[in-house]
Amino acid sequence: MEKIAVFPGSFDPITRGHESIVLRALPLFDKIIIAIGENSDKKTYFSAEKRLRWINRVFKNEAKIDVITYNGLTVDFCKEVGAKYILRGLRTSADFEFERSVGQINKKMFPEIETIFFLTVPELTALNSSIVRDILRHGGDVSQFIPEGVDL
Ligand code: ADP
Repeated sequence: MEKIAVFPGSFDPITRGHESIVLRALPLFDKIIIAIGENSDKKTYFSAEKRLRWINRVFKNEAKIDVITYNGLTVDFCKEVGAKYILRGLRTSADFEFERSVGQINKKMFPEIETIFFLTVPELTALNSSIVRDILRHGGDVSQFIPEGVDL
């Protein structure tokens, strides 16, 4: 059976942190679905179309990667696409506390799911999408924080 993993997130916008997790996870799975969550009560900075386009561009040469937007519960999306693994990155202890709860509740709702955590590489620990958005709002240069091929 194909080993399919879902990497869910807002990717608002995709950063080198996200890219690094996907590239590290790639050898472990037959397919990784980067799943852009469209949560109606969470206002995003960039449109879903742009976020989708940028991620597709970053991984355009990777046949094992699909990029899809989804609504609703991540576990329901995983069932829909036949994924038994959820990928998440851990930067800090705050990430861990949040992810522990989400991961345990997801397991309650869908017992076959396993959440796989990747510790961030040290040089990317300080990076997150919200900092990138703040720099952009103030006209700064974010090129060192986002993957090649993303023209924000
Ligand atoms: P969410 O909206 O669910 O927080 P994000 O788009 O911010 O989603 O992040 C998606 C996933 O990518 C999360 O698991 C997050 O921990 C991980 N991630 C974000 N930034 C980094 C980084 N710099 N290094 C490693 N993982 C990261």
